[in-house]
Order: sequence, then C-alpha cells, then structure tokens
Amino acid sequence: MAIDPESPLDRLWQEYSEVFRDFDDLTLARWMAQTLGQLEGRVWRLSHPLLGAFRLAAQLAHDRQIWLKRLATPPAAYVEAACCRAPLLPLLTRDLLESGLVCQHCSGTAVPFEEIPDKLQSTAKAWAEEYAPVHAVAHWEDRQRKSAGNYDRAFENAAKDAERLLARAAQQIAPEFLDFYATIVWEDQDECLEVRPEDIPL
Ligand SMILES: [Zn+2]
Repeated sequence: MAIDPESPLDRLWQEYSEVFRDFDDLTLARWMAQTLGQLEGRVWRLSHPLLGAFRLAAQLAHDRQIWLKRLATPPAAYVEAACCRAPLLPLLTRDLLESGLVCQHCSGTAVPFEEIPDKLQSTAKAWAEEYAPVHAVAHWEDRQRKSAGNYDRAFENAAKDAERLLARAAQQIAPEFLDFYATIVWEDQDECLEVRPEDIPL
C-alpha cells in the first residue's frame, strides 16, 4: 500500500509496522502462516487489531516477495490470489462492482466482480447499488446540496443509512462469502460520510 507521508495516520501505521521489519523472512512467513490459521473461517472487520497487524505484515511480505519464496505453508483452505500469489485474503468494500474483492497483500484486485461466484453476485450487487447513491451524498456538488435544502440533515441521514448498510454487509453478505473463501474482511467504515467502525455495532 502506498504510504502518504503527509498523512499523520499513515505515518503512525508506518511506525506500527516497524516491528515486522525486524522479522527475518522465515519468521515473517511463519507468523503469517500461523495467523492465517487464526483468521480462517470468520468474518473480520477491517478495523480489527489482529487483522490490522496481519495487514501490516502482509504489505511488508509483499514488498519482500515472501510468498514467492515458499518459506512457510499457509493453511490449505487458502487458495493463491491471482494478483500477487499470496494466500487469498479478500476485502469486501462498497466499490465491489468496480474494484472486485481487494487483496490485503498487494492492495490490488484479488477477485474481479465477474469472477465472484454467481451465488454471491446478485445479493452483493444489490447491496452495492443501494449503497452507491447513499455514499454519493458525501460528494454532492453545490447545486445538489442547495436543492436538498438542509444538506447537514441529508448528510446525517446518509451516514445513518451507510451504518445500516455496512451492518448488513457484515451480518448477511460477508458470511455467505465464507462458503467460497477461507476468510472474508469487510470495510467497517465510510470515511467520506464520517462513519467510523464504532458507529457500526453488530
Ligand atoms: Zn495481491
């Protein structure tokens, strides 16, 4: 993932990731293989600390091409991601239709939308299409804001809708992905609508 040196939060995560820089390749590969075993079979919030730690390791491992060196064997439930050949750990986001499922190792598209199993596509598509106009409220132009009358209220309502839609993603959509993927992560925030993980209790 690209680090934005201007972003205090990115710099903080960069600092967090230093612990993994001290791991040699074999230690890092083993840590990841073991952690993948602990992540297996569950739906994870993107904000979960264990997942956050794994993602830092994954990005570093991607830079060092750890998975191509075959130093440790990931649990058998994980198939190889087509994007970077790391064990497939997909992230479900509101941009699913355009970006597919996002790889937690290389941040590329791990599974394009059209390659997601048919059984999952229709509910996921309906969800993403319901979400799109809600998210768009954050990006309304002045003309749209004015025609809405009270934009603050429209924004607040959109944030509430986003919280409800994200909870639905976690409770109804993501669990179905476990029939096809070892683990699934969902993006438990909407930064444009100022929805934070703690706004989406499950
Ligand atoms: Zn990848």
